[in-house]
Amino acid sequence: MQLDIALQLLRQSGQPPPAGSPGSDVWLQGLIDGLVNLSSRDALTDLANRRSFDVALAREIDRVARSGEPALLLALDIDFFKRINDTHGHAAGDLVLKAVAEALTETVRPMDLVARVGGEEFAIILPNCPPAFGETVAERLRRRVARTPVTVGPSQQIHVTLSVGGAFAPQWVRSTPKLWSERADLQLYRAKASGRNLVCLEPAAVSVVSAEEKGMLFAISPSQDHE
Ligand code: GH3
Ligand code: MG
Ligand code: MG
Repeated sequence: MQLDIALQLLRQSGQPPPAGSPGSDVWLQGLIDGLVNLSSRDALTDLANRRSFDVALAREIDRVARSGEPALLLALDIDFFKRINDTHGHAAGDLVLKAVAEALTETVRPMDLVARVGGEEFAIILPNCPPAFGETVAERLRRRVARTPVTVGPSQQIHVTLSVGGAFAPQWVRSTPKLWSERADLQLYRAKASGRNLVCLEPAAVSVVSAEEKGMLFAISPSQDHE
């Protein structure tokens, strides 16, 4: 009975039914894969949803703590989106959300994760993003959305803009998803307060940890050596 519901959910979402004969291991695995895909993606935009974004963010913190590679988290919010809904209708608003999702995805690398984390709010995790490159990539996203008109009806195009906030993961120090998100959100708030259609990034840590310091941070102390 539950399997029937699972199959129906997959069908409704437009996914193909699992391959193999019903009840076989291959078929069950296909069904599980389909359900995982369904529960991790946003139905309107097909981006990663809040749930899978939270998992990816925690994973990225682990990776940064292990490798010391820089990573950037961007928080993006469509400006005056309520006005778009009020003026052009909810369906037009949905078209805008889809168009923005597509523009963001096309502008970043395949390794970057673009998620829809709220109504008209998006977040992007950019692993291995050097601090010097952060501003460039955030600006590229802002400009791409600002210059791409969205068709919302016959011969009707509207322009939308984004405000973007960003913060780097602290290298060599373990952060938490909550703290990292709060820092990016604070910058987004600054971008909104400064007039919208703007990028505000938290300045990356000015002190660069040397390889020697890094070794010291991760060195096993002599007393732990024989445990
Ligand atoms: P700001 O520039 O400060 O971000 O203003 P805003 O109007 O973008 O922000 P506000 O939070 O006031 O409005 C967000 C609107 O997004 C309100 C809500 O109705 C709309 N919204 C949320 N989810 C969806 C959705 O899935 N589809 C559509 N069409 N609208 C949505
Ligand atoms: Mg908004
Ligand atoms: Mg918002």
